[in-house]
Amino acid sequence: MTRINDNFLKLPGNYLFAEIAKRVAAYSAANPEKNLVKLGIGDVTRPLAPTVIAAMHEAVTEMGDAATFKGYGPDYGYDFLIQAIRADYAAKGVELKTEEIFVSDGAKSDCGNIGDIFGVDNLVAVCDPVYPVYVDSNAMAGRLGAYKDGKWERLVYMPCTAENGFEPALPDEVPDMIYLCYPNNPTGTVASRALLKKWVDYANEHGSVILYDSAYEAFITEPEVPHSIFEIEGAKTCALEFRSFSKTAGFTGTRCAYTVVPQELVRGGASLNALWARRQSTKFNGAPYIVQRGAAAVFTPQGQKEIKETIGYYQKNAQVILKGLQKAGLAVYGGVNAPYIWAKTPDGMGSWDFFDLLLKQANVVTTPGAGFGPSGEGYIRLTAFGTAEATEEAVRRVTAVL
Ligand code: PLP
Repeated sequence: MTRINDNFLKLPGNYLFAEIAKRVAAYSAANPEKNLVKLGIGDVTRPLAPTVIAAMHEAVTEMGDAATFKGYGPDYGYDFLIQAIRADYAAKGVELKTEEIFVSDGAKSDCGNIGDIFGVDNLVAVCDPVYPVYVDSNAMAGRLGAYKDGKWERLVYMPCTAENGFEPALPDEVPDMIYLCYPNNPTGTVASRALLKKWVDYANEHGSVILYDSAYEAFITEPEVPHSIFEIEGAKTCALEFRSFSKTAGFTGTRCAYTVVPQELVRGGASLNALWARRQSTKFNGAPYIVQRGAAAVFTPQGQKEIKETIGYYQKNAQVILKGLQKAGLAVYGGVNAPYIWAKTPDGMGSWDFFDLLLKQANVVTTPGAGFGPSGEGYIRLTAFGTAEATEEAVRRVTAVL
């Protein structure tokens, strides 16, 4: 009899967004006249930049001509895109080799797939609250033990709350794989250079690996905030980094990302760069040529100008939410260097209760913090990715019911 990977059976189910969808659908069915404003899901609303569109049109034309047609591309990405990514890092003082950059179809896939190159008995640490992909993908691999009373038995939860300034403390038990995400989803907070240096030194000292997700680095506004873990001395011997065009350039539906694995990153005598190269060449056939042409256009001067305008649009939304909720008396975090605003619920109300109140009384859809981990309880997340009109309307409505 075929056996399945029964780690899948331990998963609690995609509780968060399924539950939100269920509650929203039930409310809408009972109140069809109500017009809901949705600031829950982290998807973008602005179109791709004209320069990106033009590059993709040109690539489509090339695909229609035998002289310029492209079949399978390089597994790790076209050189024109890799060199553009290298130059972008170099502009921030980070020198990378061509072989250290792996282009893919998404940071979600890379965050999930990276587990292939790590042993199943590694101890994993995540910030709490957390982007759920890090947790679920490790649970599927069998690293987390059983799920009991809302927690994985063999997972190090590092609480990040207002009380500790959203800074994960070094854990008592030394983890082997440490996931850090800055600017953070869901809290919208950032890591200082000093905090990252502390983690880099810790990982180097203990032989751990930091899996650093900087999918939201383009939203950083404060000059002292690091954009990449590789800006920190010593990071190349203990960290790899995920990046994405999804939020930087509106590629959520177009799909393109990259992961940096330094050649100096060696564990158990093996190069993690070589392992990831082997994994990708075996299981991945490269991101589409047309999409990579679009992604490369993001790095042109005109592309940069256009994406910055769009990011500025979302940053303005973030300010509207941040200031509006502050004025309404809520304690709010994030939003300055990130497209997410993390708000404390009033009077110690539970996340789901506050979610329901905002849904029913303000007709605004948010995301309850408890869905991102135990320490998310007592918070909700709002995203700045809506339209300016929807954002202003949502803040007006929320303010009116508080
Ligand atoms: N990492 C974080 C922290 C995210 O929030 C997201 C998307 O929401 C991703 C990665 C996934 O990005 P991509 O669209 O490139 O798969």
